[in-house]
Amino acid sequence: MTQLVAYQLPKLGVAGSSPVSRSNPRPRRGFALEAALLKNQKSRTQSEGIKVLRIQKNSRAERAGLRAGDVLSDLDSRPLEDLLDLKFYPSDSVSALAVDRGGRKLKVRLQLGDGADPGWELEPMQMRTCHCNCIFCFVHQLPEDLRPGLSIKDEDYRFSFLFGNYLTLVGFTSRDLERVVRMRLSPLYVSIHATDPILRGRLLGVKRAPILPTLEKLIHGGIALHGQIVVVRGWNDGETLEKSLNDLGPLYPGLASLAVAPVGLTRHRQRLTELRGMNAEEAKEMLLQIEGFQERMINDFGRRWVYPADELLLLAQAPIPAEEAYEGYPQLENGVGLCRYYSEQAEMALKQLVLALPEKRRILWITGSSASANLQNIAAAFSNKIRNLEIKVLAVHNELLGDSVTVAGLLGGQDIVAALQKYLSQNADGSFDAVFLPPDCVNHDGVLLDDWTADRIGQQIGMPVEVFDGDWVGMIRGREAEAAR
Ligand code: SF4
Repeated sequence: MTQLVAYQLPKLGVAGSSPVSRSNPRPRRGFALEAALLKNQKSRTQSEGIKVLRIQKNSRAERAGLRAGDVLSDLDSRPLEDLLDLKFYPSDSVSALAVDRGGRKLKVRLQLGDGADPGWELEPMQMRTCHCNCIFCFVHQLPEDLRPGLSIKDEDYRFSFLFGNYLTLVGFTSRDLERVVRMRLSPLYVSIHATDPILRGRLLGVKRAPILPTLEKLIHGGIALHGQIVVVRGWNDGETLEKSLNDLGPLYPGLASLAVAPVGLTRHRQRLTELRGMNAEEAKEMLLQIEGFQERMINDFGRRWVYPADELLLLAQAPIPAEEAYEGYPQLENGVGLCRYYSEQAEMALKQLVLALPEKRRILWITGSSASANLQNIAAAFSNKIRNLEIKVLAVHNELLGDSVTVAGLLGGQDIVAALQKYLSQNADGSFDAVFLPPDCVNHDGVLLDDWTADRIGQQIGMPVEVFDGDWVGMIRGREAEAAR
């Protein structure tokens, strides 16, 4: 995509760009998305066309006669619904744009189909919000005073296509379906949870929520799908999960992959449906169930297709599967396979690094409790191989959201500062050349859940703090040393 795709995978391929899944609260993507959604709160309605916010000097748009404030209403006689139409309609030849300038109707001819930037800034798309009331919605279980944007309940197939955002398809109309198929908005990411319409409705807080017919229509229309099931004990686990897998497996390859994740529950669930998290034994049981289904899929289709979320593996204290088991990481942006991916990336970096640093360098990695053992192994591999390098790992307890939230991406700045201060006061040699925060704990603007930033944390503890950006070699050598090379 051109300028419409505001977000891309960074170097590591994981940070800051995973889909915001309100039912599966790991902030895997969507930092650019969150920014986009915030902008969209101020946007116009779809039927009003697309407003031009700015025109660059000497640009193609300016030469064509467009001005800031113009509203683009039709392209080659087809009404413009949103920015996607501008991407998909233009032909290679010059297009005719119908423009509304303060009530005056104009026609402007502009070359759009060659992919070059016309030199305009257009108003972002207005985001559609969800009409569900899921029993496990992450938005409903957040404390107050977190960073703006976290409470946005988005449900928009366009954002699913552009940003990999998960959607329930509740309220997805036949017109939406026609548009998705016509514009080839593929792949889309679907929160499935259960295939039984009544149970799915109960999970989503609506009367009935059939999903199979819509999935089939989308697949029939040539749209690739990725799905997720968030499992709540006593609701959609056990036989219900088995039924969902049995119903969904035959949809492969149209339904290209499926992630199964345990529900995330914070300590802010007062007045919400009482739900129970999963313990280690239950996680092991579910893992066995998923592995059993993987075997069936391999037999039938030669592919595992369904993948346990990393949280499930960590909860079950199971070994992290080999890279081959992730079959190209189709759900990496959903956090599935991140532990393996990190390990592989670290191993590659390790091969590139010299065996000694010129000076002693001490690094501290911040993480949540669930991934700390994996990170300890990686830290030990680096520290053992590279002379003058010492890496410590600090697992931070999540006071902000509660004990059961153990992923690194949902840590708040206050908790990190408190853990760092405690650690530094208990360790006489506790001074570090750099402290690294997990990549997915900040949004697009570098802000943590509770509005803290890496700089502010650094000021509190008197040490340089930065967010790990996926550059392992740069982190180990130090940015300055790396820049001087
Ligand atoms: S209530 Fe809406 S935003 Fe929340 S999990 Fe359900 S679909 Fe997502």
